Amino acid sequence: MDTNGGGTTGKLDGRVIVITGAARGQGEQEARLFAAEGAGVLLGDVLDEQGAAVAREIGEDRARYVRLDVSREEDWEAAVAAAKAAFGRVDGLVNNAGILRFNELTATPLAEFQELVQVNQVGTFLGIKALAPELAAAGGGTIVNTSSYTGLTGMAYVGAYAATKAAVVGLTRVAALELAAKNIRVNAMCPGAVDTPMAHPGLLDPAGMSDEARAAMAELYRRVVPLGRVGRPEEIARLALFLTSDDSSYVTGQPFVIDGGWTAGVSPF
Ligand code: NAD
Repeated sequence: MDTNGGGTTGKLDGRVIVITGAARGQGEQEARLFAAEGAGVLLGDVLDEQGAAVAREIGEDRARYVRLDVSREEDWEAAVAAAKAAFGRVDGLVNNAGILRFNELTATPLAEFQELVQVNQVGTFLGIKALAPELAAAGGGTIVNTSSYTGLTGMAYVGAYAATKAAVVGLTRVAALELAAKNIRVNAMCPGAVDTPMAHPGLLDPAGMSDEARAAMAELYRRVVPLGRVGRPEEIARLALFLTSDDSSYVTGQPFVIDGGWTAGVSPF
């Protein structure tokens, strides 16, 4: 598969990266691209069969799967141990796992709000906490958190989700400040709409979408996104690669919007 639009360049040779939520969607593409760029990747997820299958496809020399529910501190300890057992060290993390729920804010049950906080916000915090000492021991490293355009601007009916994604931006800035002295860079990605199962609420298998639903979504994004389409998970993976590789050696503490221009402003076109 051509994952980086022009062959591989070994940008992550010798690096070992933990990627959460890597069984499908953006995390899967990040794992495939990072391995193609020379990294050893530890894929974590709660979708065990899918995650293990992706790791098998990438190959045992480059990829391993481990069950990693990002909201459980003990799972993080096990994941760090698994990465070190498989590859001897770990010097990078992509906090990609996340969940989305649609609801009017005032109708959102407390349990639903807390579930989103637990996975998206606490999960990101636990990842930083578990990996930072390892990265420091390796002489430095990178952490890429996955926020969202909703972490920087508002969107109706995703109040709990937007709150957690704004929190991820806050965590990113503070972690970057506190970890810079240990040569650890921390950045966040803020994707717009990306063509993954998450972007098809209620239709978790995008291949199972009706032609009409697919056409309606394509028309919506053609109108509201200046570049005229939804993003591809491979495109988000390339930003994650930039933020993980030495190409971004002077970049830390920043949120990066990747949304086809959706949030650039209002346009009559
Ligand atoms: P996705 O639903 O396809 O993938 C999310 C992955 O996270 C899944 O494999 C899922 O099993 C895993 N996951 C969920 N809960 C978990 C947990 N507790 N522990 C470990 N893994 C868990 O969606 P995606 O689009 O690939 O999402 C990746 C990230 O991008 C998420 O953080 C999401 O919020 C963010 N994002 C997505 C979009 C979009 O439009 N798709 C836009 C902006 C941001």
